Amino acid sequence: MAKILIVEDETKIARFLELELKHEGYEVLLAGDGRLGLEKALKDNVDLIILDIMLPGLSGIEVCRRVRLESQVPIIMLTAKDDVTDKVAGLDMGADDYMTKPFAIEELLARIRVALNRKKLTVDTKGDILQIGGLTLNIKSHGASYNEDELVLTKKEYELLEYLIRNKNIALTREQLLNNVWDYEYFGDTNVVDVYIRYLRQKIDEKYGIHLISTVRGLGYIIKD
Ligand code: CA
Repeated sequence: MAKILIVEDETKIARFLELELKHEGYEVLLAGDGRLGLEKALKDNVDLIILDIMLPGLSGIEVCRRVRLESQVPIIMLTAKDDVTDKVAGLDMGADDYMTKPFAIEELLARIRVALNRKKLTVDTKGDILQIGGLTLNIKSHGASYNEDELVLTKKEYELLEYLIRNKNIALTREQLLNNVWDYEYFGDTNVVDVYIRYLRQKIDEKYGIHLISTVRGLGYIIKD
């Protein structure tokens, strides 16, 4: 089972997260300040880090920056409500995702699953090729093809498609897609996701008469096996 490090100085939140994650079957490590968090992040071979931004010792942003110098372990940042500057800084430093406090535990658990799954898929990828049905992506060249027929995709179309495929069988919210595929200039503007899904559907689903990208009503999108 995955080992998750929680770096959080607010004891109540840390304890709550610890209980919830253990209940889900994860192994949990705790660190109450930035320095200890950094040490554990680098030494204890963890699979994912939940990292608060406001920490004594070293800030979460700084911990994230230093972890990224050595490791690509998934990091989910916890930010204060509506602090866009923190979100931007965290993502700039290489965090994979963020949650705004207060958050629903179910949402955090879902994001943890996505992050862990992405890590697993990244490791399992055979060479540089991602494949689903007749669709093939080359993650090095960003080339894409459907049954040997080359697809002409823009950079963002490719990145969105790759993200959907790496997280296949998981319903992804527009916000998750926005946060993981786009730069922060689009914060909050999830319409851009719908627009690009439409482009992909024109270039793949409609062109080849297949049903690749499904809409999950009230939530977002999914690519299923
Ligand atoms: Ca804190």
